Amino acid sequence: MIDGIPGPISRLVDELAKLPTIGPKTAGRLAFYLLKTPRRQVDQLAEALKALRSEIVECSVCFNFSDSNPCHFCTDSQRDGSTVCVVEDPLDLLAVERSAGYRGRYHVLHGAISPLEGIGPDDLKIDDLLERVRGGEVKEVIVATNATFEGDATALEIGRTLEETGVRLTRLARGLATGGDIEYADPTTLNQALDGRREF
Ligand code: ZN
Repeated sequence: MIDGIPGPISRLVDELAKLPTIGPKTAGRLAFYLLKTPRRQVDQLAEALKALRSEIVECSVCFNFSDSNPCHFCTDSQRDGSTVCVVEDPLDLLAVERSAGYRGRYHVLHGAISPLEGIGPDDLKIDDLLERVRGGEVKEVIVATNATFEGDATALEIGRTLEETGVRLTRLARGLATGGDIEYADPTTLNQALDGRREF
């Protein structure tokens, strides 16, 4: 609660300020902007926020967010089920998808190993990936983690975990800038990185 500001405004400012990249100042600006916005538009925003959590689920196969389970990437018979591209986040999946050169399936880890943030292998969907590969259909796992310390540590852990399965393990070629997040890679660079992928 902020002194002198009516409760409903103060509450919204508090909630908005919890979002990444939005500090208290931006939160305040957004709240007052919404007060001047047509009511219909504000209602649409509120409905979109509610639908986000009530209609979107995590795919039980690849862990991507979807409005169906399994998601359409996992059920599309036109896609190659023998290749799985492993990404850190759903936004990275969308970046690979935009590159248009990939027609296999995906596996979303929901993060990367980061000792600083206390994120270990057990916090990611690595064991689920192992189970998937043990299932037998997957012949190649393309590790498309970011070109960062965390992405590298995660790729190494995946390599260690999947070694016993004998599956072909590849990593994106280093056309991607070191320290780069694949979410921001342009489609051409990402296509080249996929084409030039190398064995571990
Ligand atoms: Zn899926």
